[in-house]
Amino acid sequence: MGFSYQNHILHAESVAIADLMKTYGSPLYVYSRTDIEYNWHLFSHAFGIHPHLVCYAVKANSNLAVLSVLAKIGSGFDVVSNGELERILLAGADASRCVFSGVAKTNIEIKRALEVGIFCFNVESMAEMIRIEQVAKEMSMQAPISLRVNPDVDAKTHPYISTGLKENKFGVDIDDAIPIYKMAYNSPYLKVKGIDCHIGSQLTKISPFLDALDKVLELVAKLGKLNIHVTHLDLGGGVGIKYDNEQTIDINAYISSILDKVGSLKIILEPGRAIVGNAGIFVTKVEFLKQNSDKSFAIIDGAMNDLLRPSFYQAYHQVLPIDENAEGIDAHWDLVGPICETGDFLAKNRRLSLSEGDYLALMSAGAYGSTMSSNYNSRPRVAEVMVLGSQYTLVRERETIQDLFNKEYMIND
Ligand SMILES: *Cc1c(COP(=O)(O)O)cnc(C)c1O
Repeated sequence: MGFSYQNHILHAESVAIADLMKTYGSPLYVYSRTDIEYNWHLFSHAFGIHPHLVCYAVKANSNLAVLSVLAKIGSGFDVVSNGELERILLAGADASRCVFSGVAKTNIEIKRALEVGIFCFNVESMAEMIRIEQVAKEMSMQAPISLRVNPDVDAKTHPYISTGLKENKFGVDIDDAIPIYKMAYNSPYLKVKGIDCHIGSQLTKISPFLDALDKVLELVAKLGKLNIHVTHLDLGGGVGIKYDNEQTIDINAYISSILDKVGSLKIILEPGRAIVGNAGIFVTKVEFLKQNSDKSFAIIDGAMNDLLRPSFYQAYHQVLPIDENAEGIDAHWDLVGPICETGDFLAKNRRLSLSEGDYLALMSAGAYGSTMSSNYNSRPRVAEVMVLGSQYTLVRERETIQDLFNKEYMIND
């Protein structure tokens, strides 16, 4: 696949990582275009001729290169803000293959989405539905809507990425959905299209998805009795990837088990992580090695502001040397960044042979890596590169120091 050792040297497709580091400096995000396309096609092909739309969840990685590559192969998109909507339009996406999710859509976002003709709003509450209706009325339009229902199933994932329980802020309780659908059905400014649910992220089993689907199908039947006929089901994203040795979901089995249940209803999925997660790595340099009686620290030039997942979710990223034969001090290392926070680590207790100046790759960093990065500690955001075969392209420039304060003003009196 995209990242592999060739003669003990780590490559992105056919390009040695060391060459990229020489050209672009450290730290660096590297993406494999082949992997991104392959992962998207896995979803799309599994549907065969069943009506479907694979809407890549932009928040996983919103780099314009990633979006344009996906737009070219016909991907739909799931956006959660005006910023994401403008990104996909710039990247050449077809708005009519786009769904708009997100917990609190603003008037401006709703107006713009209607203007460009998105496929559907995934509505999060009665209040939001009334707002959408109002904006559509002002524009003399009909807004296509699905209601995001909360099926109250446990996705059995990290609590921060579990979204389908009653205690979560997302969507409306599935038992409260009917009056909201009735209101939408009776409004001349709303068009009922489907039902939406998204129960969490990094799921490693199919069963929670199918439990949620069963509940959604009960709602389809109840609505049908009221003569409210939905034409699609949006089952969200959440398919997990391999970070360590966890079991993962077989995409074909997952999609065929959905299709077994849904008759001829069109199915929308919103995979994010499963498209880009394993298609990207984060490469960082060992600055210093520091060992005391019971700890070995490798102080690296990458930090929690560049790759937040380890600090935020206790997430695991495999760490690989870019030269498998590199010799150094063999120990169990904690990889820690230069930021003034104890939580600033990218990996803990990893057996590696390290020397100062070595480059290390944090694998599976393509999703929720660069998009969650910040300027904390006034660190410029890192560069990003996309590889295809033996070709590579800079797809985001490294920020400069000047970029850090471009939009700030001093008080001068
Ligand atoms: C985050 C999110 C997704 C994507 O989740 P992944 O786990 O990356 O597949 C899809 N839909 C919604 C509504 C989301 O919030």
